[in-house]
Amino acid sequence: VKAKGKNNYQIYDESIAYHYQRQFKIEKDLYKAIEHNQLTLYYQPQYCMRKKTFVGLEALVRWKHPSLGIISPADFIPIAEETGLIVNMGEWIIRESCKRMKELLNKGYKVTKMCVNISKKQLEKEGFVERIATIFEEIGIAPTYIEFELTESILLIRDNELLQRMEKLKNLGISIAIDDFGTGYSSLSYLPNFSFDTLKLAREMIEGIEENEKRATVVEAVLDLAHLLGCKTIVEGIETESQATYFQDKCHYMQGYYLSKPLPPEAVETFLEECHFA
Ligand code: C2E
Ligand code: CA
Ligand code: CA
Repeated sequence: VKAKGKNNYQIYDESIAYHYQRQFKIEKDLYKAIEHNQLTLYYQPQYCMRKKTFVGLEALVRWKHPSLGIISPADFIPIAEETGLIVNMGEWIIRESCKRMKELLNKGYKVTKMCVNISKKQLEKEGFVERIATIFEEIGIAPTYIEFELTESILLIRDNELLQRMEKLKNLGISIAIDDFGTGYSSLSYLPNFSFDTLKLAREMIEGIEENEKRATVVEAVLDLAHLLGCKTIVEGIETESQATYFQDKCHYMQGYYLSKPLPPEAVETFLEECHFA
């Protein structure tokens, strides 16, 4: 970083210091977040092209820190993964989102799918599948309503034990989605190694799609490929009307700020009642 004068250095130093202080506080306070009821789930609606309505919700965790305010998962999930806290936190997230889904179904909302982000660390934890099965039983929700989103690094899994766990999850009736497809390092050759239900195209893949012909060709080929493999496709990060129009006949579901931002829990029902999106 180039600094022009003394003052600029100061600003730079202070912001770096602030960054580390904040980071340190996040690490220190994270382990108390669950027991102090500071975590909340926001829900981002997913639009079904065929039904022309919202059918799915993605649960996205938020941390209401008493002094730092709302902290984005991008700032604390990596720490939760490093420290192993993600295991308990992840279970809380699964339980909470399943309860919410059950409640919506009981109230008669026509939602078909609750999508939950799962870290590889959770899958690696002994007894994961059994605990998930217990949670579903306790809450009384059919696993077919639940989709687990895992990043494309799961395509690289070689460990037989983990592959078996994925199989067991599928046998319970859970759907599996590959999240952020197109941003990682896995290549197309890994796709056939693993059977999944949904391919979720990364936001980064669709940026500027309307002007970039080559990118459009790649994206369309990937969606076609997913369809040939018998998968559902969801395009995320739809921010503009022109993107929505572009993808309307190319994928099964859409998600993004243009359709709806992630909603706080109390706003979900009103949204589902009032959305008349053409
Ligand atoms: P993700 O799974 O790819 O989630 C989508 C992120 O994109 C969310 O950010 C969402 O708010 C944001 N988003 C949605 N629509 C748009 C759009 O149109 N434009 C743009 N620019 N962004 C959009 P969020 O909620 O901050 O989550 C960030 C990441 O944190 C997630 O990325 C996911 O990897 C992780 N995460 C969130 N909740 C959980 C969780 O419960 N468990 C785990 N393991 N990870 C989570
Ligand atoms: Ca996701
Ligand atoms: Ca994603």
